[in-house]
Amino acid sequence: MGETINDVIVIGSGPVGLFAALLLGRRGLNVTVYERWTKHYPLPRACGIDHEIVRQLQGAQLMDEMAPLLDPVIGPDKTYEFVDRMGDTLLRIDWNRPGRSGWPQMNMFYQPDFEHVLVRRIERMPNVSLRYGRELVGLRQSADDVELRLAVTDDPGIVEMDRARYVIGADGARSTVRTLAGIPQTDLGFAYDWLVVDVVPMQARVWKPYVVQHCDPARPATLVGSGPGRRRWEFMRLPGETAEELNTAGKVWELLAPWGMTPETATLERHAIYTFRGCWADRWQEGRLLLAGDAAHLMPPFLGQGLCSGMRDAMALAWRLPMVLRGEAPASLLRSYGPERSAHVQEIIEQAVALGRVICTLDPAEAAQRDAAMKAALAHPGAAPKPPPEPQLGQSGIVRHGDPHGGYLSVQGRVRYKGKVGLFDDVAGPGWQLLHRGASAEAFTGAAQDVIDRLGIIVATFGADGDTADLDGTYEGWFDGLNADAILVRPDFYVFGTSASRRDRSDLVTEVWMSLQGGA
Ligand SMILES: Cc1cc2nc3c(=O)[nH]c(=O)nc-3n(C[C@H](O)[C@H](O)[C@H](O)COP(=O)(O)OP(=O)(O)OC[C@H]3O[C@@H](n4cnc5c(N)ncnc54)[C@H](O)[C@@H]3O)c2cc1C
Repeated sequence: MGETINDVIVIGSGPVGLFAALLLGRRGLNVTVYERWTKHYPLPRACGIDHEIVRQLQGAQLMDEMAPLLDPVIGPDKTYEFVDRMGDTLLRIDWNRPGRSGWPQMNMFYQPDFEHVLVRRIERMPNVSLRYGRELVGLRQSADDVELRLAVTDDPGIVEMDRARYVIGADGARSTVRTLAGIPQTDLGFAYDWLVVDVVPMQARVWKPYVVQHCDPARPATLVGSGPGRRRWEFMRLPGETAEELNTAGKVWELLAPWGMTPETATLERHAIYTFRGCWADRWQEGRLLLAGDAAHLMPPFLGQGLCSGMRDAMALAWRLPMVLRGEAPASLLRSYGPERSAHVQEIIEQAVALGRVICTLDPAEAAQRDAAMKAALAHPGAAPKPPPEPQLGQSGIVRHGDPHGGYLSVQGRVRYKGKVGLFDDVAGPGWQLLHRGASAEAFTGAAQDVIDRLGIIVATFGADGDTADLDGTYEGWFDGLNADAILVRPDFYVFGTSASRRDRSDLVTEVWMSLQGGA
């Protein structure tokens, strides 16, 4: 057992565990990550991250390395469509646009590249250790800490112990932390096996649509970009077909042939079977144990949101845990984590499952009916599908009570802030942000100014007398749309609340403090 107790132990070195460790390490906590594999074993699964996640990478100062690894879904050819068995369009999903976070709505990437960037950064941090070949097998919580039992993978007779104030279970779908904590899951009963195939075509080619769901009842399939120069195919396993029959190189080439992919034109990187499911943990906290990522939620990948949701979990923990561990907020602050995040991710899971039910239709008559209904909807003016509703954080969390805008994602635009030009977080800084217009910062009460100082809230004043110029009208449109004069944004980019008048602005600030302290 180490002499010094860890602030946080993270179980699992998947992308969510690594990102959580990096963020907590950047905030000065002592963190150890334990991974059961003896070395980093990255397999690509996620192939897209949305604008919000790119803003997270920006805030974590990873974009210098990550930017060349992203393939933004922007441009006339880069559509996302559902098509019928003949290739006729059934539905268009609007990914091909700038996102509200200042980055393209969707960005394709190769997951192992991302994990390597995270590992390299963590290895440079003296306060974060990454220990491979250690599998969590048991734990015991006390009032002050958690004691963990870790089996040494290469030497099954040896069990090591370690302790931490808090444990993050980022240990994937079959989470040991979740099991040891006795946390049940809600399962939507959606479960289909899909063969996932990663390919590097030898010649560059324009893929149109760029992302496509082939809603062919004979074999539903997905085709998607998976980072610069790469393509991913996913094929549903059919009833009566075994996983062993489907998951062979011979079968893979047979399935790829209609797209002109052969051993002469492409390199097959890997093929594997995954079960796509829709479920979430009923609780995300048990005392000092917290769940994040696939340990807390699983969804079919049709919206490209599984990893994105896990990254949001990491962000939501990364500002709460340092506050609690430094005594700036009571431990009860952590109780807001699960309900907030769970409500948000449930909306996404339900949408992904609904799309999955459309895609996974195997009955030809049912598929024909579906196609006719979807084509009619597509042809009808005004019936064009709207972008899916934006999910909102659960309202029992750190959001201003009664504020309809609390718990929604904020925006990021280009500004001139105190003479510097760029995206807001780059020039003003990520963290707590109070954006307001029309009146100078002196208008805060003493109590509000005290909260601003304690939380290090970045105050940006838009308007003629302000220190911040809104270069593209992003913020003006946002203030107007919310009918707000001030917007208080949390470090994970979600809106705490808004105020419509100068008088209310100070109350907005003091209320966030009360909310963090467990009051109001
Ligand atoms: C085919 C497919 C396509 C997808 N596409 C997308 C997409 O486009 N966009 C998107 O956002 N998401 C997508 N996802 C989802 C995304 O890949 C996952 O949500 C994400 O990788 C989960 O990361 P994680 O860190 O939570 O878990 P994992 O990556 O599963 O990591 C968990 C880690 O914990 C370790 N571990 C487990 N138990 C223990 C233990 N007892 N002790 C120590 N270590 C342990 C494991 O070895 C593993 O390394 C897709 C998923 C699939 C299957």
